[in-house]
Amino acid sequence: MKHIAVLTSGGDAPGMNAAIRAVTRMGLELGWRVSGVAQGYAGLIAGDIEPFTARSVSGIIQQGGTILGSARCPDFLTEEGRERGLRALAQHDVDALVVIGGNGSQAGANALSAMGYPVVGVASTIDNDLYGSDITIGVDTALNIALEAIDRLKVTASSHQRAFLVEVMGRNCGYLALMSAIAGGAEAVVIPEVESDPEIIATELRDSYRRGKSHAIIVVAEGARYNAEALLEFFKAHRGRLGFELRATTLGHVQRGGAPGAYDRILATRLGAAAVERLASGEQGILIGHLQGEIRATPLAEVAARKKPLDVNLLKLADALAK
Ligand code: ADP
Repeated sequence: MKHIAVLTSGGDAPGMNAAIRAVTRMGLELGWRVSGVAQGYAGLIAGDIEPFTARSVSGIIQQGGTILGSARCPDFLTEEGRERGLRALAQHDVDALVVIGGNGSQAGANALSAMGYPVVGVASTIDNDLYGSDITIGVDTALNIALEAIDRLKVTASSHQRAFLVEVMGRNCGYLALMSAIAGGAEAVVIPEVESDPEIIATELRDSYRRGKSHAIIVVAEGARYNAEALLEFFKAHRGRLGFELRATTLGHVQRGGAPGAYDRILATRLGAAAVERLASGEQGILIGHLQGEIRATPLAEVAARKKPLDVNLLKLADALAK
C-alpha cells in the first residue's frame, strides 16, 4: 500500500473528524501518501481528491461534523457511478479507500469492494443501527445532547405540570430513543421496533400523575409509527377524553452538530487507526467496529446483508423504572 484516500459519507456524526485525523496520521506514520475525498461518494465520482499532510487534520479532533464534507449520492447506487469513482481513484493513483459512515455508506463500500477495489469501512452513525459494531462513532455524543434537552424539559414540565414529547433521531432504529429514555428517566418511550398504542401511553401518563408525579416526559423515535406529530394529533383529537395536553420538541439535527465527547474521540481514533493497520496487514473488504469491548473487523458483505437487532428487553427496564 502506498496511497490511501479517506472519505466521510451519509449523515455526519460527532467524532468523524477524529477518525479522519487518525486515518491520515496513521497512514503518514507508515510512510504512505494520504488523500482526502470531499463530499463523500459524490466527490469521489467528481474526482475531488486532495493530498493531505499531518497539518491538514490539525485542530479538528474537538470539532463536530466532518471537515471533508458529506453527501448523499444516488449515482453511487449504480454500477456506472461506482466505475466513475474507481476511475477517479486510478487517476489519482490511490491504492485503497477508507469509508467513514453508517449503513448506506458501508453498503456503498461493500459494492465497491465487490468490484475488486480494496476498501475498509469505519463504523460511524449516530443512529447505532450498523451491524458489526455494538456502538458507532457519534452515538455517545448524540445521546448526551438528547439527555441535556430532556433534563431541561423536565424542569419546565415540573413547573407547569405538563407532559412533553421529545422526538429524537435514529431513522428506523429506536436505540437513541430507548437509551435517552432510560438515562433521562422518561415516563414513556416509543420506538419503531415495538408497536405502541397511544391509548396506553395516555393511561400511563394519567397513572403517573395519580402517583404524584409533577412532570411527564415521553421520548419518541422519529421512525416510530406514532412519532411526535402523530401522537400530538391523536392527543389533540381526544383531548376532552384524555384530559391533558402535550407539548412537543423535535430535537432533529441539533443532535448531530455537537462537539464530540471523550468517548467518541477515543472510539473514532481507535477505529480510524485500526482501519489503516488492517490495510497495512493486507486486509480489505471489512468494517472496523467495536464489538464486545474490542476493536474487531467484520466482512463488509456480512455488514451489508445483516440487520443489527435492538435489545428490546431494555424497553421493559425503561417501563419498570418509569413507575
Ligand atoms: P448513512 O451512511 O448515514 O446510512 P445513507 O444511507 O444516506 O447514509 O448512504 C450514504 C450514501 O451511500 C448514499 O447516498 C449512496 O451514495 C451510498 N449508498 C447507500 N446504499 C448503497 C448501496 N446499496 N450501494 C451503493 N451505494 C450505496
